[in-house]
Amino acid sequence: MTFRATVLTLYPEMFPGTLGLSLAGRALAEGTWSLDTVQIRDFATDRHRTVDDTPAGGGAGMVLKADIIAKAVDHASPEGDARPRLLMSPRGKPLTQARVRNLAAGPGAVILCGRFEGVDQRVIDARGLEEVSIGDYVLSGGEIAAQVLLDAVVRLLPGVMGNLASGEEESFESGMLEHPHYTRPAEFEGMAIPEVLTSGNHKKIAEWRRAQALELTRARRPDLLGEK
Ligand code: SAH
Repeated sequence: MTFRATVLTLYPEMFPGTLGLSLAGRALAEGTWSLDTVQIRDFATDRHRTVDDTPAGGGAGMVLKADIIAKAVDHASPEGDARPRLLMSPRGKPLTQARVRNLAAGPGAVILCGRFEGVDQRVIDARGLEEVSIGDYVLSGGEIAAQVLLDAVVRLLPGVMGNLASGEEESFESGMLEHPHYTRPAEFEGMAIPEVLTSGNHKKIAEWRRAQALELTRARRPDLLGEK
């Protein structure tokens, strides 16, 4: 079963981008997932291939036109396509590891990348686009956000990560941030690796890691523990 991603963008040449290398790139080459891009401009109808227009009500910037976006979405995601339709947007629900896992378990995703001031609200409503944010800051376009989302999803697809267990111990999977890591050399600038990690006592190591994770989460992200 291949996870099928279709990305609607004004800059298809930005893809696969970072997704063409390392884990995601290998998985793409092996067919674990597929990536198609759709050039939104191909659905413009006038001589100048216009995709945007000035905002109704005035103000700065330009807005992606509902009619053009609707045609691109309908082309990429015809009726009966089971894949969720996402719109990368700073107004969206913040992306979480839980949502990433849920997407990775599905057939794929159709992802619209905004540009300029964003997308005409009517096509968001009419095509049921789910707005997804990658954080509380504003990017100039949805392409990098789409790559962030796909990177997070693809590494969870079966067979992509060599060591399967490493996916389950990571930050957020247990509702906590991950414990710190160490590797050789045994001493670095006068600092030793915590003794317990070289003890060979697996029970003690697991306990230590859990305690570290808890402490780190409490200090940095008490919200994850339901604390303030
Ligand atoms: N005027 C908009 C910002 C537009 S930024 C506002 O204030 O809400 C242009 C495009 O970049 C957006 O349409 C969206 O696709 C993308 N983008 C910007 N920030 C993003 C974020 N934090 N998460 C996901 N996509 C984002």
